[in-house]
Amino acid sequence: MAWPRSFIDEVKRSADPVRLIGEVVELKKRGTRWVGLCPFHQEKTPSFTVNDEGLWHCFGCGEGGDLFKFVQQHEGIDFAEAVRSLAELGGVLIPESSRGPRQQGPKIDRERILQALRAAADFYVAELQGKRGTAARAYLAGRGFDEAVASKFGLGFAPGGWGALQDALEKRGFTIAELELAGLVRKRADGSGVYDLLRDRVVFPIGDNRGRPIAFSGRVLGDGEPKYLNSPETPVFNKSRTLYGLREARDGMRQTGFVMLVEGQLDLLACVQHGFTNVVAPLGTAFTAEHARVLSSHTAKAVIAFDGDNAGRAAAERTVGVFLPGGFQVTVVQLPNGKDPDSFLSESGADGMSEALRRSLPALGFLVTRAEERGDLRSPKGKAQALESLLGFVLQVEDRVERAEWMGRIGDALEISRHLVEASFSELRQRARRHPAGYRDEHAAVPSAAAQLAEVPLAERDLARALLSHADWLPELRAIYGDGVTDPRVGALLDALETGGAAPEQIETALQGCEVQGASQLLTRLVLEDAEAPTRAYAVSCAEAIRRGALRRELRRLQKQIEAMQQSGEGEIDALDARKMALARKLEMLKPSPTGPNH
Ligand SMILES: [Zn+2]
Repeated sequence: MAWPRSFIDEVKRSADPVRLIGEVVELKKRGTRWVGLCPFHQEKTPSFTVNDEGLWHCFGCGEGGDLFKFVQQHEGIDFAEAVRSLAELGGVLIPESSRGPRQQGPKIDRERILQALRAAADFYVAELQGKRGTAARAYLAGRGFDEAVASKFGLGFAPGGWGALQDALEKRGFTIAELELAGLVRKRADGSGVYDLLRDRVVFPIGDNRGRPIAFSGRVLGDGEPKYLNSPETPVFNKSRTLYGLREARDGMRQTGFVMLVEGQLDLLACVQHGFTNVVAPLGTAFTAEHARVLSSHTAKAVIAFDGDNAGRAAAERTVGVFLPGGFQVTVVQLPNGKDPDSFLSESGADGMSEALRRSLPALGFLVTRAEERGDLRSPKGKAQALESLLGFVLQVEDRVERAEWMGRIGDALEISRHLVEASFSELRQRARRHPAGYRDEHAAVPSAAAQLAEVPLAERDLARALLSHADWLPELRAIYGDGVTDPRVGALLDALETGGAAPEQIETALQGCEVQGASQLLTRLVLEDAEAPTRAYAVSCAEAIRRGALRRELRRLQKQIEAMQQSGEGEIDALDARKMALARKLEMLKPSPTGPNH
């Protein structure tokens, strides 16, 4: 690794891991640990565990690591980028001589892109306050947004013309290439330079979980098209996992216990303006499973508040299907036809919206209503179509009890016998298995990491656990187990313990760049699971069991060699026999103690 270890350690010390991880996962203190809903798989009961040193492990999907790994996984970046980003955050100077390992291929400097986006956000805000922002200010005031909301969400204005932003940012030292990478400007079709992406629009900055602007959305002041224009996807902006307003909604979701999902930025701001602070919106794209996973770390209950017209209701139906596999409890707000949350709020106020929230339809009820809207449920054909469409949603429900309940209620709603509902369901499921493309089953693969961890031999696992709390036992124990460890993850961990240092978070750093799959997951599981540290006597018996295993393997190998020689009649059988005897005696001396593990 090109960075000195002392620098990596300093970056780690500068960070507050519980606060940083807590920005992504709602963490609750439990004993000496923190627990929350895992951001890397969908779950209903928290199995994601963090300690004060920033080591984390999910006992559901088996993922684990340190703060760097968390930032890497969550933001989809590599180790060097995670270190740089945390160093920046903690005010730690990145060593000039070694800027760290670089990726192969085109150089993309994420920090530089983020700086350009920050500068653009400042520019837009200043423009909204300035002379050119008069019309935009009037527009926002006309929509009923006050100063507090505008500044909380960092609203701005992109002036007309083609190069206002480009000029301002070039003066601040950014290159055209950087502005392009940040998605702020676009190439002209004829190849003669670039132009500002957002012009003469109100600008909504889109922040990441730390509040850094990563993209922008611009809305026309009048009736022009397109109504909204969003930044393209960039190295720092991924549409299918970014939700507008998520950071601002965190406290609101915690207080109310649910999230309200709306379709657009203005709907969201109108909700906030009326005191609903638990609101998020996708960004010019349909709601995705990735969005649901992001939300599942904050809440398990969602209320969909889309437009009251047919397009909005169809989108809500689709969105229900995205929420269901994650085990969300979902309801759908019924707004009058032609109303969106923004216009509904300006007419009926906060009280009207509260009432609409109270009367929101549970997912199944809403889906049945949709089926009714589509066809006549009294005709056999209409019923069959409705049944198939409803069962398509049941297919997305993972919990068996919940599925059974859904089927019962579908039978009631359509006045079809329970038996027929279940038969149709099995048929549909078989069809879905034969043609899996149409049905997402992306969570099925998740438990394998946990299953793999379970395969670590008991004696090796407990030896590692003992050494994690008593690194000073290492020389004595190694003299016993020698090179007998078979599991590559345990091997990597013991190597790291020897070279890296005694504290688990130091071992995790030493594991960085280690090729062995699952080593840091094993480490974090051992550190964070509720198990007593083994006694010295037990640790010794583990080491002995490992040694016995190695001797037995060696014996078997010799035996095979001897048999091969007997068949071919060549070689020094006597010498091998002598070695075999010696091994057998050694093994005899290492008799297992009655309290030790078997290997
Ligand atoms: Zn997990």
